[in-house]
Amino acid sequence: MWAAERRWVMERGALVRVRRQWNDYRVALYRIEDVTGAHWDQVSGGVQAKAPRYFIHAYVRCNGMVEGELPHSGLHAGPCPHTIKVVIVKKDNTPEVYRLFEQQAGPRPGTKG
Ligand SMILES: [Zn+2]
Repeated sequence: MWAAERRWVMERGALVRVRRQWNDYRVALYRIEDVTGAHWDQVSGGVQAKAPRYFIHAYVRCNGMVEGELPHSGLHAGPCPHTIKVVIVKKDNTPEVYRLFEQQAGPRPGTKG
């Protein structure tokens, strides 16, 4: 079920828009298959900023985007590429794309069902 829907979205060349923090103005576009480990979290990567509510977070390679930019100047783990934690914000994405990651992340903490 989920795999079929994921394939449907990917075949249409859909990209997912991610941010480093939920309120960062910079947005980067990644291929769906390059964004892994979606889960609900309240703490961002990098500066460890705490968001006012839970957002879907996932992992990408810092230089793997199709377009856009993501800051990750706080890293001291050698040269690129790094794996960095990003946020998938609902309003940035189409319902089809967002739903894929929502299904992967499961129910949001603090909500019923
Ligand atoms: Zn890097």
